[in-house]
Amino acid sequence: MVNFSKFNSLYSVAAYFNTESKCRQAIIDSRWGDDVVCPYCGQHHCHKRGDGRFCCPKCNNNFSEKVGTIFENTKIPLRKWFMAMYLISSHKKGVSSHQLSRDIDVTQKTAWFILQKIRTLFAQDDTVALRGDVECDEAYIGGKEKNKHEWKRTKGTQGRSTKTKTPVFGMVQRGGKVVALKCDKTDGATLLPIISQFVAEGSSIYTDELTAYNGLDATKYTHKVVNHGRNEYVKGGNFTNTIEGFWAMLKRMIEGIYHSISSKYLQRYVDEAVYRYNTRKLSGSDCFKDMFAASIGVVDYEMVKQIA
Ligand SMILES: [Zn+2]
Repeated sequence: MVNFSKFNSLYSVAAYFNTESKCRQAIIDSRWGDDVVCPYCGQHHCHKRGDGRFCCPKCNNNFSEKVGTIFENTKIPLRKWFMAMYLISSHKKGVSSHQLSRDIDVTQKTAWFILQKIRTLFAQDDTVALRGDVECDEAYIGGKEKNKHEWKRTKGTQGRSTKTKTPVFGMVQRGGKVVALKCDKTDGATLLPIISQFVAEGSSIYTDELTAYNGLDATKYTHKVVNHGRNEYVKGGNFTNTIEGFWAMLKRMIEGIYHSISSKYLQRYVDEAVYRYNTRKLSGSDCFKDMFAASIGVVDYEMVKQIA
């Protein structure tokens, strides 16, 4: 089985995966090993046909190793997909479709499609449990064409207009993972159920003075309000600097790489930023390994454990 974490440069990826059949074999080995399982009915020990596809002895379906993966029905060579995954893994701040199009020699439209497809691998796990010291905060992202490069986030009750910007709600465990979700509103009815879904009971929650948080259940959480206006927020660990750091990273990604993004795709970019934050301690090659495993639907639990 190919160990994807051994690839530490684009050259090493291109040198090893120099034919389509090597790429296909890597998917077969990682996905099934010697026991090819039918993606339609779950039958084991499917036979290889003369044309390289597989045939299920039970349901008689023919299938390739790409069925059920992000590569299903693709006409783009797997060599380019693998290079794209490596580039996305190693550029920690993201890759634009223009850059990717030049790097792997495809049209910008194709590069955009590849990026969106790979971004689906970053979808957040809704069973994440944050615990201990958890900072919660909202950010406002996007806007109309005339102010598309603008990024405004105003503390207090001013500037929280959702007319041109979309709110994103973030929760981060200090020293651990972040969860961030696009939401329609930032009132208690919207935010409190999200907090109770992701933040374990007994945690301390740090927020700003938004009234939405007043409804936090005091029997489940210790609520600490950070008063930015009085400049006293670093006293006694009472701060929201960790989540601010995540917003700054998301801001750099959007301003530097993606420029402007529509509300329709916002969650996917937020998912990418979350993935990058949560894998910040992994090397580019380990991220590549993780991304490849996700692309074929194989979860590497050892790797998942490392993602703090
Ligand atoms: Zn079958």
